[in-house]
Amino acid sequence: MAKHPPAPPLSDAPLAPGLYLVATPIGNLRDITLRALDVLAACDMVLAEDTRVAGKLLSHYGIKKPLHRYDEYAAVRSGPLALGALMQNQRIALVSDAGTPLVSDPGFKLVRAAVAQGSAVWPIPGPSAALAALTIAGLPTDRFLFVGFSPPKSSARRTFMTEFAPVHATLIFYESGPRLRASLTDMAAVFGNREAAVARELTKLHETCIRGTLEELAADPRLDGPKGEIVVLIAPGEEVPAGADDADAALTEALARMGPAEAAKQVAKALGLPRRDLYLRALELKDVR
Ligand code: SAM
Repeated sequence: MAKHPPAPPLSDAPLAPGLYLVATPIGNLRDITLRALDVLAACDMVLAEDTRVAGKLLSHYGIKKPLHRYDEYAAVRSGPLALGALMQNQRIALVSDAGTPLVSDPGFKLVRAAVAQGSAVWPIPGPSAALAALTIAGLPTDRFLFVGFSPPKSSARRTFMTEFAPVHATLIFYESGPRLRASLTDMAAVFGNREAAVARELTKLHETCIRGTLEELAADPRLDGPKGEIVVLIAPGEEVPAGADDADAALTEALARMGPAEAAKQVAKALGLPRRDLYLRALELKDVR
């Protein structure tokens, strides 16, 4: 790995106390902001999902800092350590192995606890595989939903995916190489033959983005046993105007949990149908029940 000289500091202003959520590269080591380097160079301590990965990044930029592991296991120990240091007005940087911390990565509990104790929390924005993939997929970007990883077993995965079928937004999944083919097959079964894209190894040597329908992608030989890190994106489904059957099904389901007025309100919001009509129908359905 070629070494780059550390970037010149952008500002001589001292770094304010607090917890810094520092985004790091998702492959190409030059995808790090000058501000991220400033913060890493000036902070008192770095919390890292994997101290070896973070250690390599820091040494690449000539930065030496006390490193503490912060993952779901080490959080029991390093969480209180970090919170105590924040109370003493220290500056702590949290990094994950790649991309933006907390995005399918640890840190949420720490941020919550830091906020609860009144410590400052600062974002240091930068790469994230989800957004990088979204920008090149050629799918609608006006509304998107980050799903993250789906369950490893096919039956649980299909159940999980079904929840997102009615969502009118581009869906963003994280996936691993060995599971890709089975996942695409399940996606085609659950979402139908929608447009989709598979973005792999973004910003790295073997970067690819293959676009097609879910059925085409599930059968594409270029996706046979692909190694590497993958984002799958799925276009929103066609918006079909809700009909009487949909309304009845939604009302029946809602009436099992709430009264007719609230059921009508919720179904009206979900299906975009007139609330008054739904209320009258809910009363009828309630009598039948
Ligand atoms: N925090 C990271 C972020 O902001 O994107 C995500 C961490 S998550 C544990 C790792 C997953 O992100 C991988 O399994 C893959 O699905 C996706 N990913 C990370 N780097 C990637 C890359 N260079 N190309 C494609 N997907 C990537």
